[in-house]
Amino acid sequence: MDILPEDVATWHYIENTARRVAKTFGFNEIRFPTFESTELFQRGVGGTTDVVQKEMYTFTDRENRSFTLRPEGTACVVRSLIENGKCSDTMPIKLYYLINCFRYEKPQAGRSREFFQFGTEVFGSASPLTDATLISLGHTLLSELGIKNTSLHINSIGCPSCRPAYRDALKHYFADRKDELCETCKSRLDTNPLRILDCKSPICSGIAKGAPKTVEHLCPDCQNHFDALKRYLDAEGIPYTVNPSIVRGLDYYTRTVFEFIADGIGAQSTVCGGGRYDGLVSELGGPKLPACGFAMGITRLILAMEASGVVIPKNEGPLLYIAPLGDAARAKALSIVTSLRKKGIAAECDIVERSLKAQMKYADKISAKFTLMLGDNEIERGMANIKNMADSSQTEIALDALDEYLADYIG
Ligand code: ATP
Ligand code: MG
Repeated sequence: MDILPEDVATWHYIENTARRVAKTFGFNEIRFPTFESTELFQRGVGGTTDVVQKEMYTFTDRENRSFTLRPEGTACVVRSLIENGKCSDTMPIKLYYLINCFRYEKPQAGRSREFFQFGTEVFGSASPLTDATLISLGHTLLSELGIKNTSLHINSIGCPSCRPAYRDALKHYFADRKDELCETCKSRLDTNPLRILDCKSPICSGIAKGAPKTVEHLCPDCQNHFDALKRYLDAEGIPYTVNPSIVRGLDYYTRTVFEFIADGIGAQSTVCGGGRYDGLVSELGGPKLPACGFAMGITRLILAMEASGVVIPKNEGPLLYIAPLGDAARAKALSIVTSLRKKGIAAECDIVERSLKAQMKYADKISAKFTLMLGDNEIERGMANIKNMADSSQTEIALDALDEYLADYIG
């Protein structure tokens, strides 16, 4: 995916805000490779999920080993913790990442084959306080970005002790209407009936509306966990809806699952999806370590910001543009901008040897806040007129005091 210079300010703004919010919650950044062994995702994400069955970019290397461009971050983070011996560190481990992901999907608004996620994971706590804290992080970030019109949908999909009975109930329900299901869901009936709840086909999702609900089949522990989560969200003042149709597309989830859904950004409206995955670390060869996390799609955040009328900051022009006239002035301009840059001031001068008229046009185009013309006369006197481009006012200042004058305008 190309992110062009004119758009990059928006990305910086979102990334910086995400980093800042994550820091206030005590999360540290983790970075990991762009591709991993295919088996990691088959085991981690689940062999019957759409991601693994249809969406992975898989290739073999020179030694015929199978690798896959990461379709998500969670399995990678878990692999990294296990491999680096971090599973016995002080708990909880609170991590975030900003990564590109790859899925072979039909590109459309809010869905691309390379996309970017802000993701978070917490390891080492089974407490619903952790789920509530993560949701609070997501909620805080959305509001810091100025995104309104989102709603939080939560659900509990149970654990290995209550899931089998629920699975059976689902199987029964869908088996009665097997003929109406799409071909994929027919095969899901045996392999993973929960996935049918996630099917995008209108017929399947219509049938799914009447299906037994996970929340009606929770064991007492899962029920208590879910009730406590709701209490904590209430205590934090975070509004939510219990939505039994939220089951998430990845196999590793247990208990809490949630999505933040944005109005007004089209069909791909889930800006954030996450949940608890207590079984994944041991599934991937680590110890029994409860965990939960979420991921936000950055393009969808941008769409949601636009829909909320957020004024997205643009790239800033330099504070000063110096337009030299003649050879001596060019050298002098170069030395002035160099010394200003050392003081942290964004300053530019002509490096193309353009005419004065063309230079002024350029200074305007790049939105320089101040301009200064530098000729033999100015160099001799050590003084020049600095022009404020906002109101065209001019002030005469000493060339060696430029940094003091401009310091007031930094930021
Ligand atoms: P969807 O319902 O859109 O298919 P998903 O359940 O596959 O999403 P997750 O794997 O949970 O999504 O990824 C978390 C977030 O990443 C999504 O909520 C979405 O914001 C974003 N995302 C997922 N796939 C894409 C994509 N192909 N293009 C852009 N963003 C995406
Ligand atoms: Mg998907």
